[in-house]
Amino acid sequence: MIPSAFEYLRPQTFDDAINLFAQHGENAKILAGGHSLIPTMKLRLAQPKVLIDLGRIADLNYIREQDGKIAVGAMATHHQIETSELLREKCPLLCEVAPQIGDVQVRNRGTIGGSLAHADPAADWPAAILALDAELEVAGPDGARVIQAKKFFVDLFQTALKPNELLREIRLPATSKAVAYVKFAQRASGFAIAGAAVVIRPESKAVGIGITGVAAKAYRATASEKKLEGQPLASENIAAAADKASNRVEALNDIHASADFRKHLARVNTKRALELAAARAER
Ligand SMILES: Cc1cc2nc3c(=O)[nH]c(=O)nc-3n(C[C@H](O)[C@H](O)[C@H](O)COP(=O)(O)OP(=O)(O)OC[C@H]3O[C@@H](n4cnc5c(N)ncnc54)[C@H](O)[C@@H]3O)c2cc1C
Repeated sequence: MIPSAFEYLRPQTFDDAINLFAQHGENAKILAGGHSLIPTMKLRLAQPKVLIDLGRIADLNYIREQDGKIAVGAMATHHQIETSELLREKCPLLCEVAPQIGDVQVRNRGTIGGSLAHADPAADWPAAILALDAELEVAGPDGARVIQAKKFFVDLFQTALKPNELLREIRLPATSKAVAYVKFAQRASGFAIAGAAVVIRPESKAVGIGITGVAAKAYRATASEKKLEGQPLASENIAAAADKASNRVEALNDIHASADFRKHLARVNTKRALELAAARAER
């Protein structure tokens, strides 16, 4: 349980972090809250020679309004998100997801950027940022670029980040209170066996649905979304849409749940999240 030796670097600015990461290449790993990386290092599944700690970079840790969106810095912790008044007011889905992550210690150290970059198939944030249609700003030695949430998750623990890029910011649209996140959690860790995040956009009569825990990567339940397009959120429409939440999905099958059970949970949790969000829309 002791990691192999590594050099520890603590840049003070984001640009320094980019330069150090480029300089050390594949020998280096970025350290955020360490709640996924450090266990992996202790098990020697990862043996980086250099750790680049983002913890001292003040301008990566914020939650603010910016150009009509809400911008969350990659180093914002789950706890900061859970207790943010701005998010509670303008993007309440994040405040509903955050307290469902792990336990108090995990929420105090773990960051949204670390979670998204890690792309654990059972992590909670991916479902929310997919449902919200968020944008992710990433940056590397060649400059910054924006990746749409739906293009960010590539496969099991794989994202669209290039090897020398860092995630800097998550940009979210303001929403109404008509949102919900419902998950069936793995008892010991809290990770999702199946989690469904729903955002109702009354202005466009559309719904965003993100699902995590079920497949190798989190996904948008597009067949369910299409079924509800322009439709009233009546219970029969919700049930018909939720039925499609695991359509054509290759579900994971492991010691925690079979593929069939995961697909079943995806449908049930999508239905419950849609019902909850619809009830909140009426208030
Ligand atoms: C006991 C336990 C229970 C947990 N339960 C849950 C749960 O219920 N739900 C859930 O969603 N999560 C859960 N987690 C995971 C937790 O949310 C972590 O916060 C998350 O996995 C990683 O965030 P981190 O800040 O700790 O990242 P780290 O562990 O520091 O980094 C994770 C990976 O991302 C990379 N990385 C980090 N930041 C960046 C960046 N800005 N740019 C590019 N790459 C970056 C690192 O190099 C590393 O490869 C749990 C963890 C533990 C230990």
